Amino acid sequence: MPFDYAPAPESRSIVDIESNYGLFIGGSFSEPTSGEFFKTINPATEEVLSEVAEAGQADVDAAVAAARRAYDKTWSKMSGKDRAKYIFRIARLIQERSRELAVLETLDNGKPIRESRDVDLPLVAAHFFYHAGWADKLEFAGYGPDPKSLGVAAQVIPWNFPLLMLAWKVAPALACGNTVVLKPAETTPLTALAFADICKQAGLPPGVVNIITGAGETGRMLVEHPDVDKVAFTGSTEVGKAIQRAVAGTKKKLTLELGGKAANIVFDDAPIDQAIEGIVNGIYFNQGHVCCAGSRLLLQESVADEALASLKRRLTTLRLGDPLDKNTDIGAINSSMQLSKIEELTASGEAEGAERWSPTCPIPDKGFWFPPTVFTNVTQAHRIAREEIFGPVLSVLTFRTPEEAVAKANNTPFGLSAGIWTEKGSRILWMANQMRAGIVWANTFNRFDPTSPFGGFKESGFGREGGVQGLGAYLNVEDPS
Ligand code: NDP
Repeated sequence: MPFDYAPAPESRSIVDIESNYGLFIGGSFSEPTSGEFFKTINPATEEVLSEVAEAGQADVDAAVAAARRAYDKTWSKMSGKDRAKYIFRIARLIQERSRELAVLETLDNGKPIRESRDVDLPLVAAHFFYHAGWADKLEFAGYGPDPKSLGVAAQVIPWNFPLLMLAWKVAPALACGNTVVLKPAETTPLTALAFADICKQAGLPPGVVNIITGAGETGRMLVEHPDVDKVAFTGSTEVGKAIQRAVAGTKKKLTLELGGKAANIVFDDAPIDQAIEGIVNGIYFNQGHVCCAGSRLLLQESVADEALASLKRRLTTLRLGDPLDKNTDIGAINSSMQLSKIEELTASGEAEGAERWSPTCPIPDKGFWFPPTVFTNVTQAHRIAREEIFGPVLSVLTFRTPEEAVAKANNTPFGLSAGIWTEKGSRILWMANQMRAGIVWANTFNRFDPTSPFGGFKESGFGREGGVQGLGAYLNVEDPS
């Protein structure tokens, strides 16, 4: 009998959450003109963590005006070398405060501390370090001898990687000389507000970064604001389309990082144990709240039974529960709304004839939870094979030939990522060329690095974030991607 784990909870005493937060505009926190606040809760316990300001039109106007002033008077006039010093300082402060930020992220989002501590926070710091390095070298980035910034960037981010998505947006914007108004997701505003404090600590000139909290309506007002030069959005395809319509016909430059339905393709010559770890990491990492999650597993028929048996065995060892426990693999679902969406889609899977399986795993009484789930007997017509579930749910299909794998993998309106598992290098290269996906991983999955561009095709959006390609989205040049 295997030994059980003793609880190893991370202490939450390192974070100091205020009972309410205002809006971070022009370098300081202020009350919203509406006087309205909304609650943000811990999805693992449903405990109210804090009350956060709801920005209305007057607040959005004030934030954009502050960003414009900072752009005209300070940031656009500053040398790249001086901008870099601020961004390096922010990166170092993030490292210094990483334990606090990881605990705060886990409390507000529900993701396991193991992930916020070992994946999110190191990547957040890496994004600021990487882009700080670019700030004084933009003339060598391939965008001409003297590439210019755009102006004020309106940035709207989702709840699945709150601080990491902030870093993906804010770091390149600042490095390229733009100022920022950012709206975090309604359910996960706390690390963005902690980041506002880091901007103050770093002595960043007032107005260069503004953080306004609120719901979807605040996001809409921000992206539709006439004095915004650039819109960057990560979130659902539906809202992305609405933003594209709103921005059409304006001078605003737009990048959209939207949903996905990635195929993770396992050939019969793949190292199966390694592939199983990649499949687990591909779909159960961050409770499957990952736009590039490997949510469709394509198994070559000759190894399908063996791989499925191994996968099920591995899933019985995953630990679901307290996200602050360092042993936890599967944390809480971010909100009751997201939980309902996962339940609705998984119910449709059963109704349409797919076979559902989950390991036995106790579910806590309070909070929002969903066990790791595998669907077999899935056809390409099933909703669970076509729609983004954004939860810990894997749909398994099979194939016989590489051509069939390509056809099935590309049979989706999305085009964000794909995974290939095989011993054969030539097959990896051939498959990668056939995939209509912005990112293709080979013999690994869900690997991120600030030097590597990330972005999609088709309904997964357009534009790239990260790498030298990502800089083009924040410069007054044609985007090469
Ligand atoms: P949304 O696209 O609604 O949210 C993303 C961000 O956009 C949030 O900050 C949201 O604010 C804001 N927003 C909402 N409506 C508007 C608008 N009209 N104009 C501007 N900004 C707006 O995603 P949801 O949180 O509703 O999630 C729904 C589904 O989207 C998920 O189930 C998942 O399938 C998918 N999703 C995909 C993501 C990805 O990375 N690809 C990320 C998140 C979700 P607020 O949070 O206050 O509503």
